[in-house]
Amino acid sequence: MAGRRSITIIGGGVIGLAAAYALVREGHGVTLIERREDIGQEASFANGGQLSYHYVSPLADAGVARDALGWLLRPHAPISLRLRADPHQWRWLLGFLGACNRRTNRKNAAILLDLALSGQAALQTWRAAGLDDFLWRRPGKLVLYRNPSKFRKAAHAVTDPERQRTLSPAECTAIEPAFASLQSRLAGGIFSPEDEVGDCFLFCTALHKALAAEPDFRLVRGQAELRPGPGDRCALAVDGRPFEADLVILAAGIASRALARPLGIDLPLYGLKGYSLTTRPQPGILPSVSVTDYDNRVVYAGLGDRLRVAAMVDIGAEDTVPAPRRLAALRALVAETLPGAFGGGEDAPWAGLRPATPTGVPVIGRTRYANLLLNVGHGALGFTLSVGSALRLKQIVAGADARAIG
Ligand SMILES: Cc1cc2nc3c(=O)[nH]c(=O)nc-3n(C[C@H](O)[C@H](O)[C@H](O)COP(=O)(O)OP(=O)(O)OC[C@H]3O[C@@H](n4cnc5c(N)ncnc54)[C@H](O)[C@@H]3O)c2cc1C
Repeated sequence: MAGRRSITIIGGGVIGLAAAYALVREGHGVTLIERREDIGQEASFANGGQLSYHYVSPLADAGVARDALGWLLRPHAPISLRLRADPHQWRWLLGFLGACNRRTNRKNAAILLDLALSGQAALQTWRAAGLDDFLWRRPGKLVLYRNPSKFRKAAHAVTDPERQRTLSPAECTAIEPAFASLQSRLAGGIFSPEDEVGDCFLFCTALHKALAAEPDFRLVRGQAELRPGPGDRCALAVDGRPFEADLVILAAGIASRALARPLGIDLPLYGLKGYSLTTRPQPGILPSVSVTDYDNRVVYAGLGDRLRVAAMVDIGAEDTVPAPRRLAALRALVAETLPGAFGGGEDAPWAGLRPATPTGVPVIGRTRYANLLLNVGHGALGFTLSVGSALRLKQIVAGADARAIG
């Protein structure tokens, strides 16, 4: 194939694996470097499972800073803030506050929508090409609003009424009867019938299985490091030993910031800690559509016979240990919203760090190093944006006039 490259991707999460799959399909040779024993063990492991193609509004929006101040005083706050003596955290927070206005939110939402929808179409091609099942369904997504003014604002922002329907409380619970007990407390909802769900870890596994069958792919287990190299190139080492690489793609989630620092690249990434629970609900309680309880920022997705619930944005928590206090708050919120969700059994608590930029827009594109591309910062939407980001990167590798993002 003309223009065939030998590409090394750092990071075996959903972003690195989707990029590897897109590039191998294009005829490139791909080496994926992953430091863990298995792929998909970090942020991509037990996320909310929503392929939220039509609802991509970044967290940074008008009124969020004011809401956050109110939330900080609530025990079940969807956002918590622990200020640290860390200039990077302050810079990130300032950038976030700077993006908390309607105009910036709309502009960034349009970028994310474009990226998401291109990926939605391509995912169907990939599935048709024989990717293993990852509990994928297209049940639609229902965003429930309790606060009337937030609902009015959301309804006003709907630009495509064919793809996003504004619903009364009764229409919401008709679409998703599992939430019937909430009807009297609802102001309304927005339903996106074309949105999907899937298990992100199983998607990673399916991509890896398909890649492993390709002669042009190899997985190398080891810790990657980057340093300035000769001329305008960067040099890669794995487990301390030099590693030959024609073109490197950095896709290492939140670790990308530390990896890029020796190169003098200051990535605007901050880890936003979030939680999930995976339950086997009582009969009749498993929601069929995917649901977001907007006011509490809790998402619900039925994955096979399990319910995946994900929530919480903890700013300033740098570990991935599920904190008992936050788990208790999440369990209480879920029990109040969807009685029977726990079915009396295990709920497999998990926490991960969303690799977030202040604006919510990922960084995809070239760097000042001729042999280094970035695919980082997918925040709360990495599963949704993984395929679209891979396509954008594929165009950049091809030298096409692809717009860099972020
Ligand atoms: C609670 C929660 C709920 C979420 N819900 C959703 C949702 O419903 N829908 C959605 O679209 N998104 C969701 N997300 C976001 C999504 O999970 C992330 O954006 C996505 O997983 C990021 O993928 P990634 O590949 O960039 O990072 P990761 O999955 O973290 O992968 C990075 C990989 O790089 C490896 N690595 C790091 N450093 C090195 C190194 N030096 N050498 C070699 N390998 C290295 C790591 O081991 C890891 O495997 C959620 C996230 C959280 C935390």
